[in-house]
Amino acid sequence: MKEINISSQERYQLIDITDGVEKIVKESGADEGLVLIFTPHSTAAVLITENEDGLKKDWLSFFKKMVSGFDFKHNIIDNNADSHLLSGLVGQGKVLPVENKKLVRGVWQNIFFVELDGPRDRKVVIKIIK
Ligand code: ZN
Repeated sequence: MKEINISSQERYQLIDITDGVEKIVKESGADEGLVLIFTPHSTAAVLITENEDGLKKDWLSFFKKMVSGFDFKHNIIDNNADSHLLSGLVGQGKVLPVENKKLVRGVWQNIFFVELDGPRDRKVVIKIIK
């Protein structure tokens, strides 16, 4: 298992980790299989989307709007119910195929770590199942 370490700068932030994942897949030498991309945090997520500035801003406004107007009970603990809810919805991991020693993904499918309660030091674990 490998790790990608991330230091986020914003409360909500999309960080493209595609190159890091592809490097780990390449270095593993796996001909085929699956790659699990998982973040072991309950206020962060892994998302596959296009790396385009407008769309990244759209995701962040969408996240903010989805969690606005609620009286969250968890906020008396550490004021981050929004972060937990979005983390659960987007998902804390994704699984992608590996074929011919390469990650299988569409041209517009980049892999993002999604910070939902930053800034923090975070990690994403990468597990290749051959
Ligand atoms: Zn919390």
